[in-house]
Amino acid sequence: MNRESIATRRSGGLWRWRELLPVRRWEHVAYLGEGDIPLQRAPRFGASLGLSNLAVKRESLNPTGSFKARGMAVAVSRAAELGAKHLVAPSAGNAGGALASYAAAAGVRATVIMPSDSPAANQVEVLVTGADLLLLDGLISDCGRLARLIAEETGAFDLSTLKEPYRVEGKKTMGLEIAEQLDWRLPDAIVYPTGGGTGVVGMWKAFAELESMGLVGSERPRMFCVQAEGCAPIVRAFQEGSRFASSWQNASTAASGLRVPGAVGDFLILDAIRKSGGAAVAVPDADMLEMQRRMGSLGLGYVSLETAAAAAGLEALVESGLVRRDDSVALFDTGSGFKSEPPPSAAPQAIPNDETFWRERVLPGLGRG
Ligand SMILES: *Cc1c(COP(=O)(O)O)cnc(C)c1O
Repeated sequence: MNRESIATRRSGGLWRWRELLPVRRWEHVAYLGEGDIPLQRAPRFGASLGLSNLAVKRESLNPTGSFKARGMAVAVSRAAELGAKHLVAPSAGNAGGALASYAAAAGVRATVIMPSDSPAANQVEVLVTGADLLLLDGLISDCGRLARLIAEETGAFDLSTLKEPYRVEGKKTMGLEIAEQLDWRLPDAIVYPTGGGTGVVGMWKAFAELESMGLVGSERPRMFCVQAEGCAPIVRAFQEGSRFASSWQNASTAASGLRVPGAVGDFLILDAIRKSGGAAVAVPDADMLEMQRRMGSLGLGYVSLETAAAAAGLEALVESGLVRRDDSVALFDTGSGFKSEPPPSAAPQAIPNDETFWRERVLPGLGRG
């Protein structure tokens, strides 16, 4: 693989980078059109933030409406290739929807566990694509405990963030694409709304792989993570100088993708931020809501609150001087606003956050395998 061969591959989405992906045989690829997403210049919006060189990576254009499609396309394809028949994962919303869609495409069973207040569109997406949906009266970390229990007791394969190696391989393609889209010069700064952080971890890996293939040099973008003030474990650990992030108590934000109290890959995220000379900042929900409207009115469409959070964080970074006005900046639009509506009143009943209940009432209903 080199610059020329990649340029000749006009279709295939993220699978244009197949040499760098774990799936071995084409027939195992569950392809819904993921990847190859525009990095759009946004001069008018950039000017409103005080930036002269802003581009927005429009991940909301992926199938399933968020960048989670990338991770699940690769992880589900590879799991199916390795013989998994039943996949399980906790999700704040978008990962579950993507898992359900790709599991259907790969012809394997999926069980998705979401907090009961996760967005309506994600719940409907899981049901419509034929996966099992368990709504839990708890946080994503509680959903993770139930996912582990289901994996242990039924033999299902656990696709939780960074508990298996392949979702991050799918997400790294965001970094590969940015390099190609900027003519093999990486931006000065990347701004990313961070929950579990696999986007950051994946791109950081991508840049190292590109350098080892001689496609980019040793310079790296400064990596900036934006979290919500109501759930900012990475920001706190960054400010305290800790290598690991302790779990955030009473996590609360309307941006469901950022409602992740403890990230499994905390040290990988923090390493990437620090090695790159970046930073982590938190924004209040009110700023996200205001920014969501501002982005819409400046021509960026209906973006998710997570995307708006990243933009609000970027504005704060410009004001504090951590991002310079003439830096080339790639801002991540991680997901569509259409998926952020509150849950419907007709949603399935939430199950209690109680392991005895899970063992007695949930597991028997799932069967084995
Ligand atoms: C999952 C999600 C995030 C957080 O991404 P991580 O890579 O898990 O940090 C941000 N925005 C949206 C729309 C998401 O669905």
